[in-house]
Amino acid sequence: AVAKPTNFLRQIIENHLDSGTHAGRHWGGGPGDAAHHAAGQVDTAKIRTRFPPEPNGYLHVGHAKSICLNFGLARDYGGICHLRFDDTNPEKEEQEYVESIKDSVRWLGFDWQDADGHSHLYFASNYFDFMHRAAVYLIEQGLAYVDEQSAEDMRANRGDFTTPGKDSPYRSRNVADNLQRFADMKDGKLADGAAVLRAKIDMAAPNINLRDPAIYRIRRATHHNTGDAWCIYPMYTFAHPIEDALEHITHSICTLEFEDQRPFYDWLLDHLREGGLIATPQPRQYEFSRLNLTYVITSKRKLKHLVDSGTVSGWDDPRMPTIVGLRRRGYTPAAIRNFCERIGVTKDYSWIDYATLDGCLREDLEHQAHRAMVVLDPLPLELTNWAEMFGSSDHIEACHLPALPHGKDSNADVPQRHFGLGRHVWIEREDFEETPPKGYKRLFPGNKVRLKGGYVIECTGCEKDADGQVTKVLATVVPDTKSGTPGADSVKVKAAITWVAQHDAVQAEVRLYDRLFTDAQPDAGGKDYLALLNPDSLKVVTAYVEPSLASARPDDKFQFERFGYFVADRADHRTEKPVFNKITGLKDSWGK
Ligand code: ATP
Ligand code: MG
Ligand code: MG
Repeated sequence: AVAKPTNFLRQIIENHLDSGTHAGRHWGGGPGDAAHHAAGQVDTAKIRTRFPPEPNGYLHVGHAKSICLNFGLARDYGGICHLRFDDTNPEKEEQEYVESIKDSVRWLGFDWQDADGHSHLYFASNYFDFMHRAAVYLIEQGLAYVDEQSAEDMRANRGDFTTPGKDSPYRSRNVADNLQRFADMKDGKLADGAAVLRAKIDMAAPNINLRDPAIYRIRRATHHNTGDAWCIYPMYTFAHPIEDALEHITHSICTLEFEDQRPFYDWLLDHLREGGLIATPQPRQYEFSRLNLTYVITSKRKLKHLVDSGTVSGWDDPRMPTIVGLRRRGYTPAAIRNFCERIGVTKDYSWIDYATLDGCLREDLEHQAHRAMVVLDPLPLELTNWAEMFGSSDHIEACHLPALPHGKDSNADVPQRHFGLGRHVWIEREDFEETPPKGYKRLFPGNKVRLKGGYVIECTGCEKDADGQVTKVLATVVPDTKSGTPGADSVKVKAAITWVAQHDAVQAEVRLYDRLFTDAQPDAGGKDYLALLNPDSLKVVTAYVEPSLASARPDDKFQFERFGYFVADRADHRTEKPVFNKITGLKDSWGK
């Protein structure tokens, strides 16, 4: 196996494995009821991690980091990684998102099935009964109370970094009254927002998250899984540790924003463990820095706005940093996984250059994407001595080039692309200059170039329209210079240009994508990201592509010689109407 670069999480896990910390978790024998963890059961998995998305949007490249980290650690240390939908918020969650998240995790190459074929796909909403019981337990222990202050009073009384909070008048309510009031909340006797259940910790705690955080709220909303069974819902900070505990998670890995929540995470699980409600040892939370990628926004809310406002064509628009967008753009799972590996896992605040992702894509495709010639800005070229050379104006000269560059030790096995050369050819408009600038090596009257994989030709002039626009380039074929024949090198030229013959060229729509934002940090420091949209993030051209591309299937990736990597669009590409997306250029152009 290839040695993986280590990181602080790997070191923590290796220490735990060495000292046997997680060698067998014992269910405490309390009233825990997670269906898959019967009382008394011993869990023998070495480590358990989880990826816990909220199904309120599509996954993005930041989530890919978390997926690769959590599933990767489980894979490398013989553990299990759960896919858990953190669906405790009824309002914004939808089944559509659940399905797309499953697809994206699978597409990235990870699986929530363990070696025994057991599926580790969980929904936090399946634990609502247990969470309710845990809340009742806290009330019984004098560790939670129903607060009926107004939202404004609650906020004002929380204090801030310099001022301690003030106790709510409801803080001293007795256990029996709290139990009754919590039952009233659950039974729908109180209006939305009229009361919350709060943990009773310390209103003067320096960490504001410990100033009696809300753990249950009233919300009459239909939940995608539990329907209208509940009108109270647990808060994320209360639900998440319980989810981890019920699933026997050993290492609960999250981004650094949650560092301040860790004391509450431990407070809650310590109490539930003492009460025998959860297994031992209890899960621990570890934080790492989130991925910040230049030119990219990863806020789900803002990405949703781009979709809803029609700024992009959908969640899978190839300019979106969503997994479905990256996929449609042509990024491969291997490129994204290598990217996540390369950027590493730390606790440092930093920005990753988008070029790093493109570098990983090029590395993945360089040795597998078949080459092809295309003309993106077509200008006709006529080979005026064609009939004299080949006996007929309609003659077609068969040509071929390797689909992949020759490796050091390969030649015969390299697949070939076949195409014809005829009298009428398409070339790039920029490959002809009537009056060449200094140093120009391509077509100008009197100069010779090679049609790549074909013949050397000599430019003799051009035709123009009334406006002086060049409409056609004229050239003659130089005899005995065909690529791959003994005479090929008899005439030296300074340039070989890409081309496609008009008789076998395939017309295609090519979507030239560029970065969506003009600013490297469009979402930083209160900037208005909508004012920073790149007006040239999509240019659509009608191109001519070589005939080998006629058989491209959706998702097939190619290197268009000189232009970069392209993919047949997975949504719109049809044999009779080909559509290719530009993934990225051949070289990094992000710094320019
Ligand atoms: P929101 O807060 O808008 O719902 P989120 O980014 O918190 O979005 P979740 O669905 O809660 O989305 O995220 C699932 C997991 O992905 C979490 O564990 C979260 O820490 C992780 N994650 C989200 N964004 C990033 C990021 N940019 N880098 C690394 N991990 C991330
Ligand atoms: Mg979240
Ligand atoms: Mg979040």
